[in-house]
Amino acid sequence: MDLGISGKKAIVCASSKGLGRGCAEALAAAGVNLVINGRTEETLKAAAGELAKAHGVEVVPVAADITTEDGRGAVLEAAGEVDILVNNAGGPPPGMWYDWEREDFIKALDANMLAPIAMMKACLPGMMSRSWGRVVNITSQSVKAPIAVLGLSNSARAGLTGYVAGTSRQVAGSGVTINNLLPGIHATDRAIALDGGVAREQGISMDEAKANRCQTIPAGRYGTPEEFGATCAFLCSQHAGFIVGQNVLLDGGGVNSTM
Ligand code: NAP
Repeated sequence: MDLGISGKKAIVCASSKGLGRGCAEALAAAGVNLVINGRTEETLKAAAGELAKAHGVEVVPVAADITTEDGRGAVLEAAGEVDILVNNAGGPPPGMWYDWEREDFIKALDANMLAPIAMMKACLPGMMSRSWGRVVNITSQSVKAPIAVLGLSNSARAGLTGYVAGTSRQVAGSGVTINNLLPGIHATDRAIALDGGVAREQGISMDEAKANRCQTIPAGRYGTPEEFGATCAFLCSQHAGFIVGQNVLLDGGGVNSTM
């Protein structure tokens, strides 16, 4: 399917690896020029080279922490006018409800709620004035069903979800859509870190931790960044202009609910 977005420009935050990289890859395959981002310059530059070579699009890497104002400023300056914004950042650390103090919540809110809101606030006016724009926020299945050890994520992402529910309906009339993608477990470094935590806590191997988790997923496996990226690219496509303010779950059936 031709996504109809060849020649557009996208910022994909936190995209040198994992789900962000999957989104960057699928957008590049659709002919979209990219500004990609991550904190580690070496990994980021390598990703930019690979994306440009594989898809023949322009890829500008900006090594910066997207959770800081300076980092966002550098990414926005490098991009100029953008048609597509994919918001992403690393996830908060696991723990239990009695572990977290105010500072822990502030960090999680900065990374997983306020950073994407700041990026939207910067990009939406230009998109609206050009009557076309797509925003996809990478959130989590924890928005639909809380994950006990990820209370910081449950909280911060719920805040972002509320913001998107309201804002998406205020900008849709200008040809701009905002939607959220909710990953269940996907095979990335984040999954390795989470499985490592389970393995240490339960005194089992990584393979056992992964196998146990797979048993809780009707699809019986972890998702891939490629599948995730393809869904993101569709939400950014010309075909998705009537999808507004939705929370799209990619979890292999893991969240057991009717809607
Ligand atoms: P990942 O494999 O660890 O990749 C994270 C990517 O983001 C890397 O490129 C990393 O590069 C970059 N990054 C991290 N923090 C950053 C920051 N502050 N500024 C700029 N770049 C940053 O993680 P992932 O699995 O793709 O997860 C992406 C998001 O989805 C996270 O918020 C995660 O919590 C959420 N999620 C993931 C899963 C899953 O199963 N994978 C499930 C639910 C939700 P640098 O380290 O070099 O900065």
